[in-house]
This record gives sequence, structure tokens and C-alpha cells, in this order.
Amino acid sequence: MAFTSLGLSEPLLRAVAEQGYASPTPIQAQAIPAVLDGRDLLAAAQTGTGKTAAFTLPLLQRLEGVGRDTRPGRAPRALVLVPTRELAAQVSESVRVYGRHTGIRTTVVFGGVGLQPQAAALRRGIDILIATPGRLLDLVAQQHANLSDVDCLVLDEADRMLDMGFIHDIKRILGLLPRTRQNLLFSATFSEGIRRLAAGLLHRPLSIEVAPRNAPAELVSQSVYHVPKTGKQALLAHLLSQEYWGQTLVFTRTKHGANKLAEQLGRDGFQVAVIHGNKSQSARMQALAAFKEDRVQILVATDIAARGLDIQQLPHVVNYELPHVPEDYVHRIGRTGRAGADGAAVSLVCKDEASQLRDIERLLGRRLPAHPVPEEILATLQADTPFPRTPPNPMPDSKHRPASRRGPSTSPRRLL
Ligand code: AMP
Repeated sequence: MAFTSLGLSEPLLRAVAEQGYASPTPIQAQAIPAVLDGRDLLAAAQTGTGKTAAFTLPLLQRLEGVGRDTRPGRAPRALVLVPTRELAAQVSESVRVYGRHTGIRTTVVFGGVGLQPQAAALRRGIDILIATPGRLLDLVAQQHANLSDVDCLVLDEADRMLDMGFIHDIKRILGLLPRTRQNLLFSATFSEGIRRLAAGLLHRPLSIEVAPRNAPAELVSQSVYHVPKTGKQALLAHLLSQEYWGQTLVFTRTKHGANKLAEQLGRDGFQVAVIHGNKSQSARMQALAAFKEDRVQILVATDIAARGLDIQQLPHVVNYELPHVPEDYVHRIGRTGRAGADGAAVSLVCKDEASQLRDIERLLGRRLPAHPVPEEILATLQADTPFPRTPPNPMPDSKHRPASRRGPSTSPRRLL
């Protein structure tokens, strides 16, 4: 299928072509004509499926089509609610890129940065507003944001918004919108909470499911190393340098753990950035930009901070510690293998994490294959290692080296 058969206008097709997209992803092929028709949507799709363009492109076209309002100070006619600042920034960037040949104006608002510039942008007048719920309500309370003209609402990563406790904020926002409007709901998972939200929000929606629920992107190869906690750092450094891993996103469970690991890797000579909830918004943006532009090889992140990160062609994701919630594992590894790229997700699992691994494997419906820990790493550890030296189902080494489009990097890269 070609983008030209979806009914999109020339300025949008031009922007898509400039992005180098050859054909629509499955969610785009299904969602775009339906949204152009004005239908509500219930989409089961995780990041990496092309879901952002699936709602952004038809939204831009509808706003163009209804005769554009160019008055300064106009209130937004489309509202995109997202759970995190990073996702807000990414969606806003997508709207800017896909809408670059339209006259549509967009702005993004989220907490952690000054409110006044956002209020000023709203005063100038916009068509699409991308927002995290808390900051949007602050702006409404201070009468900087007016939601009475919104005729299309998008809830992106709705499951995450509920996980983060935004349900009351969402309900308050829904109460501020006109009753008649188009609603698009995107969620990676479908809990009872999401079903209830969808039932109250959507009117005869088109349901789209592009990946099996809770199923990670197929192109991601997943494996584990059973390694004592004290050996994780040495093993990670070994994999990064000896296995020629290129850019790698490393997840830790805590902010403190993220800082500590980044310091250790820095001492080992790697270029590392850190992203977690205690970092200021500008520090997070800088870290993400450095990673995206390949100025640092490793990004260490916690779950919340990494939610929705869009990093193209990322070959490796490492779970330095397993998450407590098995669904978070699926979200984490959804960072790699995006939009057709191959990826590898490797988990370093110590004895204390056996039950988390069991939960993850139950969710996935299969056992994750284990690599043997290299002898030189085992040699650095104390003799009482709690794991067998030869795991039951060893994998050939080449398995965790995906066909990266970047090619191998000359690692470790030394700090200047
Ligand atoms: P998303 O699921 O919206 O987070 O998008 C994941 C990635 O896929 C982004 O980096 C997009 O630039 C990319 N992408 C979106 N649509 C397409 C397409 N039709 N062809 C190739 N890549 C795409």
C-alpha cells in the first residue's frame, strides 16, 4: 500500500516523503482513513508501530480542511494528552515535522519548566495543543488555556496515564471539552481501567490492534545473562566493549542506581548520559539529544523517564535490573526494534530477581534463552556464585549482536 491511497493531502504526503517513509505502517493504513472520516478510534498499539503519525497526519488534514482559523489568540481545536514530558516533546516534534507544509500551529505544555512561555504561546493562538494533564489543568486554572473549541481529543499511551494516577486529571479535562467531538484512544495494554475509560469516552469506535496485546516487537531478540549482582557492572562493560555494542539504552530500577551506574561506566571510559525523574527538564532534554545525536554511547534511564522515548535504529536495550511490573519490561524493550529495525534486548538477572523474571516469562508466554557469562567475568567474582556456569540453554554469541544499521562502533569510546 502507498501513502497516496490513504486520502492525504499533498502537503502531508510531501512531509511524509521527506521523512523517507516508503509505505504506511499497519496502524497508519487502518487509522488514517478512519480518522479522516471523523470516526472515533480505539487502538492497541505500542510505541514503535508508527502510531504518532497514525493520528497526527489525519488530524492535521482535518484541521486544514475545515477552513483554517488564523485569528491570533484562537483556542486549540485538537488536544493530545500524553503521560510524560518526553513523550509530549516527541509528539510535538512529530506534529511540527508532518505539518511543516501546512500552516497549522502547535504548542506543547508540560510541567517542570516555566509556565509563562507556555501561556504566551497559547495567547498567540494555536491549532493543536499537546499536553501532560497536570500542567494543562494549571494553565486552565490560571485562564491561560481555553478548551471549549476542542473538537478532537487524542489520549496517547492511555495505559501509562492511568498507571501514573492521571485518571482524575483526565476526567476533569474531559469535563472542560465540548460534548460533541472526535476521540482517539491509544494504549499498549488494555486493563479494566482502560476499558472503562474507553467505554465512557468513545462513540462506536473503530478498534485496531496492530500487535498482539503485551507482545513485544517481533524484531527484538531477547535473552538473559544469569549473573550475580556484583558482576553486573563488569559484564555490562565487557559487552559494551568486547562485543562492539553501539548505542545502548540501559534501564535501572532507581534514580540512585542510574546515577551510580553512569558514574561507574564513566570511570570505565564510556561516554554516558543519564535520564531520570530527579533531573531537570533541560538536563533530560540535553541527555536525550546527546544520545540521539550519537555524542554519547550509553543512556542510563529509569522507567518513567524513558517512557515514550523515540530513538531511531537503537540496536541494544539492557535491563540492568528487571522492573517490578512485567508490563514495564515490554515497554522498555519496545525502545528497540522500532519501525522495522532489528534490535536486541538483554537482561542481566541476579538471584534476587528470579521471581520478576518468572513473571516476565509468564507474560511473554515463553522462557527467555540465557547466554553463558564469559569466563573472564566469572573469574573476577567470588567463588560462591549462585548461578550455574553453564546455563541450560546457552546461545551462540552472535545472537545478541543484531544486524545494526549503524554498523559496529569502535568502543569503548574514551572521554575527551
Ligand atoms: P511511533 O510508534 O509513533 O513512536 O513511531 C516510531 C518510529 O517509526 C518513529 O521514529 C517514526 O519516525 C517511524 N515511522 C513512523 N511511520 C513510519 C513509516 N510509515 N515508515 C517508516 N518509519 C516510520
